[in-house]
Amino acid sequence: MPRKTSHSYRLERNTRWLIRRRDGLLRRLGRIGPFVDGSIYRMGRTCGNKEHCQCSRGKKHVSSYLMFKVRQKSRTLYIPVDLLGEVLTYSKRYRSLKELIRQICDVQKEIVRRHVQEKARHHHR
Ligand SMILES: [Zn+2]
Repeated sequence: MPRKTSHSYRLERNTRWLIRRRDGLLRRLGRIGPFVDGSIYRMGRTCGNKEHCQCSRGKKHVSSYLMFKVRQKSRTLYIPVDLLGEVLTYSKRYRSLKELIRQICDVQKEIVRRHVQEKARHHHR
């Protein structure tokens, strides 16, 4: 291994480490699976059969909705009961996705920052 000053060696090693980390995060991004934006909320409602249904006596029918925004406006989407579990997973995954994107952006900025620093070091040599 060629001898280098400890400072440049550490800098180079860290940049390589950052690139490896970024590529690892990108692979995770590619494997994340289906996701959806928005938050899930449940709402009780009464049905048309007010006379005979238990919903008229307080035990309301609970429906789930996905609430999300389109150009700053709130939208809701009814979630069929048999899809609720999956939609919960998609929604949770979306939060991980956003966190993953934030981490990739942080690493990427550091790579750009180091590039500028290294260029400056070479220039002054
Ligand atoms: Zn009812």
